Amino acid sequence: MRILILARKPRLYSHRRLVEAAKKRGHEVRVVNTLRCYMNISSHRPEVRYQGERLDGFDAIIPRIGASVTFYGMAVVRHFEMQGVYSVNESVAIGRSRDKLRSLQLLARKGIGLPVTGFAHSPGDTDDVIRIAGGAPLVIKLLEGTHGRGVILADTYNAAKSVIESFSALDVYFMTQEFIKEAGGADIRAFVIGGKVVASMKRQGKKGEFRSNLHRGGSASPIRITPEERSTAVRAAKTLGLNVAGVDMLRSNHGPVVMEVNSSPGLEGIERATGKDIASMIIEFIEKNARPNRTRTKGTG
Ligand code: ADP
Repeated sequence: MRILILARKPRLYSHRRLVEAAKKRGHEVRVVNTLRCYMNISSHRPEVRYQGERLDGFDAIIPRIGASVTFYGMAVVRHFEMQGVYSVNESVAIGRSRDKLRSLQLLARKGIGLPVTGFAHSPGDTDDVIRIAGGAPLVIKLLEGTHGRGVILADTYNAAKSVIESFSALDVYFMTQEFIKEAGGADIRAFVIGGKVVASMKRQGKKGEFRSNLHRGGSASPIRITPEERSTAVRAAKTLGLNVAGVDMLRSNHGPVVMEVNSSPGLEGIERATGKDIASMIIEFIEKNARPNRTRTKGTG
């Protein structure tokens, strides 16, 4: 097969591993910088171009779209979909996962466990958004944050009030969320491919840190997840329409709660923690599923 990887940094561990796995399984693989792709939008012959040539004849694309380039990256993926090229994760599903509010709404509609969450821009009633999250201590999150930046634990009502007032003044969207204390500074990343959890790890924040992000010095170890956690992760990926997803969950007193579903989950942490060859599993999934005109979205919707 001919596989195209859309990624800004070809040297990143995840991208190198995908190239390696594709080659090992006998495929032709190419990586192009998503932002360097450009498009010809004509009625009958949509083209994606790269440095003067048409990107043509691919059986599948693997979009690895970073959060900061979601808007343009989704347009490039859509343009391939318009040509009937199979995308491991479709543009619409990527868009759902990137919109934190929309994904929580979709997950809530399916009855999937979530931390109790309030959402606001510049609330007239600060007390009420604090109350929604169960009062202090509570977590306040900037909508656009990544790697745990913009995630704040407000220990007291007064701390929460001043954070919310600052965010309101800054003209940003934010969430107030029930603090899952019993998670003990750890979360679970379940890696889902084609409706199955293929690997899972526990990330533990460093001492005194409630955020478990590996970028913040957290450490990862393999974990056996419960059947309930497994089905929560699978349902969350399915609800957003993602074939490949990293589902982040917390272990709460009221069962597993989903914090986020990632549509370009990194491979480094999970492969190192579990010793599994996740890259080859993704390529195998493509082998079984990539067919022309199989994309459901056809670049619309
Ligand atoms: P980001 O997307 O920036 O990584 P997250 O929402 O995943 O932000 O939060 C970062 C980390 O903070 C999580 O991995 C988790 O360990 C911790 N955390 C986030 N929300 C809560 C919560 N409601 N209760 C307890 N811990 C939380």
